[in-house]
Amino acid sequence: MDHIWSPWRYQYVSAIAQQPGCVFCRMLAEDDDEKNFIVHRGKLNFVVLNIFPYTSGHLMVVPYEHQGELGGLDQAAGSEMLELARRCERAITQEYRPDGFNVGFNLGKCAGAGVAEHLHLHVVPRWCGDANFVSVIGETRNLPEALETTFSRLRKHLH
Ligand SMILES: [Zn+2]
Repeated sequence: MDHIWSPWRYQYVSAIAQQPGCVFCRMLAEDDDEKNFIVHRGKLNFVVLNIFPYTSGHLMVVPYEHQGELGGLDQAAGSEMLELARRCERAITQEYRPDGFNVGFNLGKCAGAGVAEHLHLHVVPRWCGDANFVSVIGETRNLPEALETTFSRLRKHLH
C-alpha cells in the first residue's frame, strides 16, 4: 500500500477540512468532547478517535498547538505525545487485543495527511490479514463497531 493511513477517507476528511478553520482547533474550542469523540485531554495534547478509522480503535494524539511541522513542536509537547501514544497502545491492547500497531505521522498532503496543517500522531491497531481484506474490497469498508462504542470502550482506560 502506498498510503498506510488514509487514501480511502481522504475525500471525507478533505470535505471536513474545507470548513473554515482547522478541524482539530475547532473541536477543541467546541468543548463537547463526547460529540467530537475526544477520549482524553492531557496537559499539551488531546486524544481523539479518528471518525473514519482505518480499523476499530484507531486513535490520534494531537497537540493543542496548531503546528504542522514536527520540528516546530516543543519538546514537552513531543514528550507528552509519545507518553499518550503509549497509553493508547495499552488501552487498545486491553480492549481489542490486536496483533500489532501502526504508529506514525503523515506530514504533508502528498504523504496522505488529511489535515496537513495540524500535526497528529496515528495509533492504529492491526490484525493479521486486515490489509488483505482492504485490497479485496477496495475503498469501502464495513466497520464492525459504532464509534460511540469505541469511544466508551477506550475512554474508560484513558480518561
Ligand atoms: Zn489546528
